[in-house]
Amino acid sequence: MQIDINLQEKSYKVFINELKKISLDTKVAIVTNPTVSALHLDTLLGKIAASECFVITIPDGEQYKNFETINTILEECFTHRLDRKSVLIALGGGVIGDMTGFVASIYQRGISFIQVPTTLLAQVDASVGGKTGINNKFGKNLVGAFWQPRAVYCETEFLKTLPKREFSAGVAEMIKMAVTFDKDFFEWLELNSLHVEKNLQYAIEKCVKIKADVVSRDEREEGIRAVLNYGHTFCHVIENETNYSTYLHGEGVAIGMVLANSLANRLDLLSVEEGKRIQNVLEKYDLPTSYTIASAEKFYDSFFLDKKSANKKIKFILPKGIGDFAIKDDISKDVLLEILQ
Ligand code: NAD
Repeated sequence: MQIDINLQEKSYKVFINELKKISLDTKVAIVTNPTVSALHLDTLLGKIAASECFVITIPDGEQYKNFETINTILEECFTHRLDRKSVLIALGGGVIGDMTGFVASIYQRGISFIQVPTTLLAQVDASVGGKTGINNKFGKNLVGAFWQPRAVYCETEFLKTLPKREFSAGVAEMIKMAVTFDKDFFEWLELNSLHVEKNLQYAIEKCVKIKADVVSRDEREEGIRAVLNYGHTFCHVIENETNYSTYLHGEGVAIGMVLANSLANRLDLLSVEEGKRIQNVLEKYDLPTSYTIASAEKFYDSFFLDKKSANKKIKFILPKGIGDFAIKDDISKDVLLEILQ
């Protein structure tokens, strides 16, 4: 299956289970980490034909998604004398993809890169759409660029080695897309298991199509792309309160969706029964759906640290029934405190 991301001269394809050969008449550097390289680097190397190919290995973990690692990758690129025609290949999850893309956007004012995502989250979300970047002491993904890859290759084979929790974290992002954009897909998720290979491929295709459509309409998140942040406004506060160490991002999104659903219910956008159905699908994949809020006031104040809160307004993406969404940035503090309490 091939899915087009239509962005005029920046258009590209996402290939799902179609990675046969990547032939490039240039120097190539694969960026990966020790975990992924031990499992999947040989498979990828067997599929690359390039004039020269190097591997750049960086440490594994979100805590290394910073300027220091970017500098390490850049220095390797200079040491190997990559030129403006060279291509970087990201082999790994969202952390590797975001950093490789960012280096590609700045190395010699921008070179080409390819995404080979190896986590479910990266296949259905992070690898598509050209958001690249790193974290700093002020927060997550605060430094970066929009820089589209020239191709994305999603191989379900790579997902077979993924730890169960990481798999479920990716599922959370899939549920997010179904709830806000596609009622039929949500009903399909209720009835089918993603632990069945053919179902998994079908669902990845569905999500990439949703993401492709959204990104093609709004590359820079000036409108509809923000809908992909359903659950994230709550999630970012939870991640912050728990020092990014208790929950994987997808797990935080799962809790965030449940909280957003309570708010949607309070505003008569979502029924209790619909909220319960969403929670059931999250629980089917052992995703967390509750969180103890120590202080509603403190939680509320933390909303304003989010880089997506503009002019002191907090933007909430809420489900409108299942398969549709509402964007609200005028919810009163009283209503929010009521939900948080
Ligand atoms: P990750 O990249 O940290 O990968 C999770 C863990 O799984 C890592 O330890 C990794 O080494 C390991 N791993 C990767 N592939 C594996 C495999 N096939 N088998 C076994 N282990 C494997 O985390 P992630 O969830 O993929 O990505 C999260 C990152 O993505 C965050 O930094 C987030 O900000 C970013 N993100 C970006 C976008 C975007 O649009 N650019 C969207 C969503 C998330």
